[in-house]
Amino acid sequence: MKEENILVTGGTGMVGVALQRELPRAQFLSSKICDLTDPGATRSLFKQQEVERIIHLAARVGGIKANSDNLATFCYENSMMNNNLLHTAQKCGVKKILSLLSTCVYPDIASYPLTEEQIHNGPPHSSNYAYAYAKRMLDVQSRAYRDQYGCNFITAVPNNLFGENDNFDLENSHVIPAIIRKVYEAKQSGGNVLLWGDGTPLREFTYTPDLAKILHLMLENYDDPTPLNIGNTVEIEIKRVASLIVEIFDFKGELKWDSTKPKGQFRKPSDNSKLLKLGWSAADYTPFPDALENACHWFAENYPKVRGVA
Ligand code: NDP
Repeated sequence: MKEENILVTGGTGMVGVALQRELPRAQFLSSKICDLTDPGATRSLFKQQEVERIIHLAARVGGIKANSDNLATFCYENSMMNNNLLHTAQKCGVKKILSLLSTCVYPDIASYPLTEEQIHNGPPHSSNYAYAYAKRMLDVQSRAYRDQYGCNFITAVPNNLFGENDNFDLENSHVIPAIIRKVYEAKQSGGNVLLWGDGTPLREFTYTPDLAKILHLMLENYDDPTPLNIGNTVEIEIKRVASLIVEIFDFKGELKWDSTKPKGQFRKPSDNSKLLKLGWSAADYTPFPDALENACHWFAENYPKVRGVA
């Protein structure tokens, strides 16, 4: 199958831009080319171009605040995009779709590390339940199209992602881009930095160029209906992330924590052993400090022309 006939939805987002380097001849879609919440626009898209395989990244994405302030919007937009895309792709004979879920769809109370079969075992964390249920339905939809029509629709479960072209809007960014921006701007202005929570939660982070390679590997080699955890499983304390960013920018001001603000789940380690059996190795992930340094340098070089700032 030709790389030219791979369509990447969400091709202009953070993961999409990383995939542009991994699959340079694929077709990359933005919401301006086709609003996937619109069934008519989605149908027209497939009339215009030949598509054999899809990497479905398009989603309404955000951090804790954006999720909890916009529960209905996250539910509506993600459900509509997923419904329209899978339904139209099946009708148009698309051979394979690889869609992204997220580790935040896992139950709030679960056995650690998170294994794929636990996804539907209980309610997700209350802060992002609408996004989580819409994403869980993407697993259900993918399996339903496989069972009824024989479609090779598969799903991957990344953990927290970061990298070049992240979203640095403080109203809806994730933890790493928010800290990068706050520390960088405080360094420029000579001020201090106030971060949400208390810095104690542990998180796993995956660098988007690594994720792009894993998605390529899955597109070629994974055909199983079970979702696959694909993140780097090294756990890092948020405080450690902040202190690395402070070092990278050589920030000399004060870093304070606002413990009245939500800090999310304490930890949610995931199990990527099935991915490791597929041919990816733990050593293939870029070491976290190197990846973080790349992301910080990219931000500094492109500031203020970065998403969420300009
Ligand atoms: P971004 O927010 O960076 O990008 C979102 C992409 O979706 C953009 O290309 C955007 O297009 C597109 N999009 C949004 N709304 C629509 C729409 N109505 N119609 C068509 N396209 C639309 O997301 P990421 O790259 O960070 O995330 C990619 C995937 O990874 C998502 O499915 C997300 O759920 C998943 N994921 C992300 C994590 C993270 O930490 N970022 C963690 C785990 C999973 P445009 O820019 O043109 O509007």
